[in-house]
Amino acid sequence: MPLIVRWKRIEGVMVLRAETMRYKLVCSSCNSEYDMSYKSQICSRCNGILRVEYYYNDITDKDLQLRSYRSLTRVLPKSNYGYYILGDTKLLRDIKDKALYLKLETENPTRSFKDRGSIVEISKAIDYNYKEIVCASTGNMAYSLSYYSRINKIKARVYISKDAVESKIDLIRSNNAEIVNIDGDFTKAQEEALKYSISNNAFLTGDYCYRMEGQRVVTLEIFKQMRALKKSVDNIILPVGNATLLSATEKAIDELYRFKLIRDKPTVIAVQSAQCDPFVKAYEKDRSIEYVKPSTIADAIAVGYPTFGDSALEWLKENNGYALSVSDKELVEARDYFAGKYNLIIETASASVIAAYNRIRDRLDGYTVAIITGANE
Ligand SMILES: [Zn+2]
Repeated sequence: MPLIVRWKRIEGVMVLRAETMRYKLVCSSCNSEYDMSYKSQICSRCNGILRVEYYYNDITDKDLQLRSYRSLTRVLPKSNYGYYILGDTKLLRDIKDKALYLKLETENPTRSFKDRGSIVEISKAIDYNYKEIVCASTGNMAYSLSYYSRINKIKARVYISKDAVESKIDLIRSNNAEIVNIDGDFTKAQEEALKYSISNNAFLTGDYCYRMEGQRVVTLEIFKQMRALKKSVDNIILPVGNATLLSATEKAIDELYRFKLIRDKPTVIAVQSAQCDPFVKAYEKDRSIEYVKPSTIADAIAVGYPTFGDSALEWLKENNGYALSVSDKELVEARDYFAGKYNLIIETASASVIAAYNRIRDRLDGYTVAIITGANE
């Protein structure tokens, strides 16, 4: 497995040709398996969600010795297109609280962590010769996907939930995407996008397996950066909408552990708005996820039924993580506090991690990394 690193500039954005890996797709519902030539992120037998399973045996001990952490951050699904953005976004130490680090995913080209997954999805769309992609979104995902679609001359059609804010819709429109406003929430928009993809041979993108692979890199990068600072990562705090970032974080931690790049897994803390917290309720009541009607101002995490919720929750419990919700009032206060303190604008969904940290900091040992997911507001 040769190490391939090549930089290329696309519209002023530096992207890295990642080291890619062989994989298969496995259905989370019926366990059907597909090889890399399969052209969808949904199981054709049951419409279930697929997951990427790498042939980890391809990675030898020698590979790991040679390349260590840095190489693992480049492990992504094999693609002919092969150019994946690896943000290398800033890790900022808190001004006063020396135990807190902020991972600024707001530094990505469309100012959210969504870019990490979008570039992988668009790469696959190109591999499979799709002329059109379709997605459901509360805003950030569609902005990111329409941006990379435009660059690569692919049509984009987006189903926007009614929680989306006007400023985000403008950003999507400016990238030439066709916008369909849905009189319903994200879950409804997701159903419509799926239907359209089937009847129009459009590539269904969004919170699916390839996006998750790209989002793993956020966590791998956190460990790489903290190690360079000679610091441990003891806790990771992140917001939960559809639980894709959470699932990606969990998968990345498992990989680091599997390849003995970390001795202990960090505590993962999942945060939602109390006005839309199906994941936290399932955690607190020790049951599976049940739909709730979103009514939070944190549009980016206004998801009533997280697609990856149940599996992400199972991992969280097995690995001593936990979930908590914060009120919309706390979110706004945390957002404004953050803006004043760092002179950085972040969206309310991202402020959830700050609000949560303020509440639980006495319970946390060691170093904590909070993922600041987006700044489009
Ligand atoms: Zn299936």
